[in-house]
Amino acid sequence: MVQDTASVLFGVEGLQVSHAEAGADGTVEVWAVTDYLAAAACPECGTVSDRVHERVVTRPRDVRRAGDAVDLRWVKVRRKCGSSECPRKTFTEWVPAVPPRCRITARLREQAADEVAGRGITPAEAARHAGISWPVAQEAFAATADPVLEQPVAPVAHLGIDEHRRGRARFALDERTGEYTVLADRWHTCFFDLDGQQGLLGQVEGRTADDAAYWLAQATPAWRDRVQVVAIDMCTIYLAAVRRMLPQAQVAVDLFHVVQLAVKTAGDVRRRAVRGKYGRRGRSGDPEYGIKNLLVRNLEHLTSAGFAKIMDTLGADAAGQEILAAWIAKEKLRDALNLRARVTGSVPPERAVRDRLFSFYDWCAQNDDIPELVSLARTISRWEDQIICAVLTGVTNATSESLNRLAKLEARLAYGFRNPLNQRRRVRVACTRGYRRPSPTATNNRTRPVTGRHPDPG
Ligand SMILES: [Zn+2]
Repeated sequence: MVQDTASVLFGVEGLQVSHAEAGADGTVEVWAVTDYLAAAACPECGTVSDRVHERVVTRPRDVRRAGDAVDLRWVKVRRKCGSSECPRKTFTEWVPAVPPRCRITARLREQAADEVAGRGITPAEAARHAGISWPVAQEAFAATADPVLEQPVAPVAHLGIDEHRRGRARFALDERTGEYTVLADRWHTCFFDLDGQQGLLGQVEGRTADDAAYWLAQATPAWRDRVQVVAIDMCTIYLAAVRRMLPQAQVAVDLFHVVQLAVKTAGDVRRRAVRGKYGRRGRSGDPEYGIKNLLVRNLEHLTSAGFAKIMDTLGADAAGQEILAAWIAKEKLRDALNLRARVTGSVPPERAVRDRLFSFYDWCAQNDDIPELVSLARTISRWEDQIICAVLTGVTNATSESLNRLAKLEARLAYGFRNPLNQRRRVRVACTRGYRRPSPTATNNRTRPVTGRHPDPG
């Protein structure tokens, strides 16, 4: 079918532009008639009819033109059905771009959905821009997102499990006791693809071992068998879930959290020693206070002046030596973790990691008068196998943490979520955006001849 230039530019299949006018406020009024063969067929019996009953003007909402609102006025024909046996007396025309009873064009709906799914704006924002209601934009987004999200996840070799707070915790003051009680503290357990491109694989509400096991139980046995390494934070709950559902998988703890624990321990020792020495908390002017930022730094990142300052300050008295012992313990633990291939360039033998961990335990045992070090050594020994697995395999939960940031951002953009299902959908789309896209719809790829007046070659 040959179309005129205005209709080609307007670009709604089945509508022919008869007249267009730009208003003073930028709004473009577009008058169109139906130019679609099937529109003349009765939807009940299929008889093609050319008997006009009446003409009606409908105003389906359409996409903007170069930022300006478009006021589409479609002159529809209500036809009489040609068949005498047909129960339907009359019917109005419709085209696929504006299905029957729809007051919004399909492309406006698609645009709103794509803006939420692809650009990460909220359905409320997309609805405001498109001039439609929130439920319509939300429904369009769900229709675009769900088919992609419902695809079965491909096998993953390295699985990450992490918890994510679903909203602010709510507290209430108990009038009688004067204490706060937790009303709601909502969590999601999230599952991540750490070595592939699938981003966030899924979420379940809650953060107990049963919650995590529930999600893993939904996967096929073949999928579960393919998981080689699971990365978790130092959290016994998820360890229990993995042991139950993925007995063949190795477990790696995230080494960032191991180092964080050691740094926190060194800080705890410093605070306790300073309080013991001065009878108050540390403050600016105390020598120990002056080096507190040097103590959290990695040894290899200290300048020689910084290192000398630590040694001079802490070598002076018993309190300082306690702090120094805790700092050395932290560095000894880091020595073991630094054997990972990411730092050295080659996978270490397991023996070497165990040797360095032994050296850390030995140091803690020599300083067993420092309770914080004893408890750190206990925790590390409890997680020793998982730490060694992390050093040997190099699997970290860093991807989970970065995707958690995206999840938090979505919640901020939305000013919080009431509906956990909407939250899960939005977060999953955000975390897989750029990885997994819906297949382009058929209407996006059509070509149409541009006819009408051609430029004069002479
Ligand atoms: Zn009919």
